[in-house]
Amino acid sequence: MTNSQFVPDKPKTTTDQFEVERKQMVQTQLRDRRIQDQRVLAAMSKVPRHEFLDSWSQDLAYSDRPLPIDYQQTISQPYIVAYMTEAANIAPSDQVLEIGTGSGYQTAILGEIARQVYSVEIIPQLAKKARDTLTHLGYKNIEIKIGDGYEGWAEHAPYDAIIVTAAPKYIPHALIKQLKINSKMVIPVGTWHQDIVVLTKKENDIVIEKTIPVRFVPMTKKSCC
Ligand code: SAH
Repeated sequence: MTNSQFVPDKPKTTTDQFEVERKQMVQTQLRDRRIQDQRVLAAMSKVPRHEFLDSWSQDLAYSDRPLPIDYQQTISQPYIVAYMTEAANIAPSDQVLEIGTGSGYQTAILGEIARQVYSVEIIPQLAKKARDTLTHLGYKNIEIKIGDGYEGWAEHAPYDAIIVTAAPKYIPHALIKQLKINSKMVIPVGTWHQDIVVLTKKENDIVIEKTIPVRFVPMTKKSCC
């Protein structure tokens, strides 16, 4: 007779180990690379990145790289998530728009910092899965819509910050329109060569700052849903 107590467990990273790895990630990948915003560091220390991945890739959750999720999409490298969130300059009272929900990891980071997050994802299955993950983790200030992010989410505009995590060739006009004056949009722009652009909307002007080179999945424009 087999006693189930003696059946060895499959070697799998435990929650405690994940926590240790997450702390190391914050120190070596973020603090040591000059991410300084305390709210961003606190959010990245808290959100369980492994919960946004399938079981086969969970052990890599805190490594210094992007990882594949379903439908040929990717969850961004932790440093890039922190960099973009810091650049967006988000206050606790802010209402934020995200384009490209993907796994929902960046969405959760925003949910830790902002009052309310609206996120748009074009692939329905990814939107549904991210919704489930975020509900399971207890987020109540996040809404996800299946739709084309080129159009933004006009219903809740204007936004205090916009973060885009898929790369268009040009900055979508609707997104600029939905941004508040003196607020920032952080967006990867380009095709083969992409840079993260930090756009600040002024009263009568737009200030564009090209920052670090990146490689995001392209922003697609098929009409969906
Ligand atoms: N922030 C995500 C990264 C996802 S990758 C994460 O942390 O996991 C980029 C995502 O943008 C993909 O899920 C892709 O389906 C989505 N996307 C691409 N074009 C889009 C569009 N026009 N509107 C909304 N989402 C789009």
